[in-house]
Amino acid sequence: MWIYRLKGTAWELDPILPELFDRGARGLEEREGEVLAYFPAPLDLPYGGVWEEVPDEDWLSAWRRDLKPALAPPFVVLAPWHLWEGPEIPLVIEPGMAFGTGHHETTRLALMALARHLRPGEKVLDLGTGSGILAIAAAKLGGEALGVDIDPSVLPQAEANARQNGVAVRFLEGSLTDALPYGPFDLVVANLFAELHQAFAPRYREALAPGGRLLATGILQEKAPMVREALWGAGFTPLEEAGEGEWVLLAYRR
Ligand code: SAM
Repeated sequence: MWIYRLKGTAWELDPILPELFDRGARGLEEREGEVLAYFPAPLDLPYGGVWEEVPDEDWLSAWRRDLKPALAPPFVVLAPWHLWEGPEIPLVIEPGMAFGTGHHETTRLALMALARHLRPGEKVLDLGTGSGILAIAAAKLGGEALGVDIDPSVLPQAEANARQNGVAVRFLEGSLTDALPYGPFDLVVANLFAELHQAFAPRYREALAPGGRLLATGILQEKAPMVREALWGAGFTPLEEAGEGEWVLLAYRR
């Protein structure tokens, strides 16, 4: 087995991760400041990574052994092989296939905020659904969820994850504009990045029913002022803010 080592976080490298799978990667792992992609054989890749050979038998079992359940109360995010007996609501997500395994701060912030802000029966848009984790969590809380992603390669995995969790979620290729005909939504959750939230601010308003809530994350602390200003300018009222490490989640009401 071969490892292709890339400098950067999974967050920074997110745009090329689907391409690594397209080129034959069997799994990904994030370590301090690095992403490791596991391949059966080395190949010519244009991303500036470094190849290293590792013994065949170990990597998959070691990776599985080291991957821990991720707690985001009231949820716990599990891989299909994890056993869990606690009172948390389980979200079973196949790891390594798309962003959204519960191991990133922003995903956990969004999961915990969903539990605080979503009421059963409400209509939810998960914008930038990735693995489908937030839409699946919304469905488990009794919401009627739509997951949308601009990257079509993540959608089959999101659908498989929803089936694995026994919930009905609609997934759609596209972005905010493509979701508008399915609205208005009672809640929009979006784990994107600050500049995109800034650009989307007026359209978030269009997507939401009066009194609807927006949960925006994927925002670095230092970029939060830009998003606050845009949402305020679009007529939103602040509800709460939550943070973990260098990341924040902003909750607003339309
Ligand atoms: N929702 C998951 C979570 O919270 O863990 C995944 C979030 S991941 C950081 C961002 C996702 O948004 C990626 O799957 C990416 O393809 C998608 N995305 C990026 N820009 C987008 C856009 N303009 N419209 C819709 N999806 C977008």
